Amino acid sequence: MDADENTKTYFRSYGMPASNWHSIPDDFPDVAPLILNKPWVWPNGSVITCKFISATDLKPEETENPLTPRVRRKIEQYAHSWEAFANIKFQFVDSGPTDIRITLVKERGAYSEVGTSCKSRPQNIATMNYGWFYEHTDDKEFRRTATHEFGHALGCVHEQFNPSAKFAWITKNVYAYYADPEHGGWDTARVDLNFNNFQPVDAQKHDFTHWDPKSIMHYPIMKDWTEQGYEVGLNTSFSDFDKEFIARIYPK
Ligand SMILES: [Zn+2]
Repeated sequence: MDADENTKTYFRSYGMPASNWHSIPDDFPDVAPLILNKPWVWPNGSVITCKFISATDLKPEETENPLTPRVRRKIEQYAHSWEAFANIKFQFVDSGPTDIRITLVKERGAYSEVGTSCKSRPQNIATMNYGWFYEHTDDKEFRRTATHEFGHALGCVHEQFNPSAKFAWITKNVYAYYADPEHGGWDTARVDLNFNNFQPVDAQKHDFTHWDPKSIMHYPIMKDWTEQGYEVGLNTSFSDFDKEFIARIYPK
């Protein structure tokens, strides 16, 4: 996969159906919250089981990429990378019911359910997908995307909706960017969905500290998207504060 293709598919990754978990879905499962109003956080010390599956709901126009040994190894490697900081384990198994189910459907981009919300999905349905992982995908791309998606699996949401960030969005520029087919060709409704209607998440329902533009959970932000002229590049690994923050949520 060449750099161009990486860039394109990256931007498409924003629009996946299950990826709008930066807000609590209306159909959020009725689970006992561990922390008041923060129901997606796993119990500290959890062993979260994961399995690769074939998509059972593949549409005729969709294709599944092959789960090669390297693709499998890289996804597992970057899932486990969170364990250095968080008191949590991702256990990959080959059969039986699991918390997380991973597919490689090319047309579905990259997404993950957020935290324990994966428990509300039927066992034959994926809770995480990687649409652009191939045998020869660059290691940095595996790291960037798999670390980010497993961050969602631990309950992290997109950093640009941190209530501390206080972006003054220039929405017309964001709409114009994504309307370009090269950047996804999204209509405004889809942009709104992926940008949480340009609102920060509810401060009462989320645990957060200061805004961290280096976070692996941050989208790139173009300079003309906010009144402040913030610019955030393509973050490809943990920031120091990602490590600190997840260690605070899941202390060892
Ligand atoms: Zn994301």
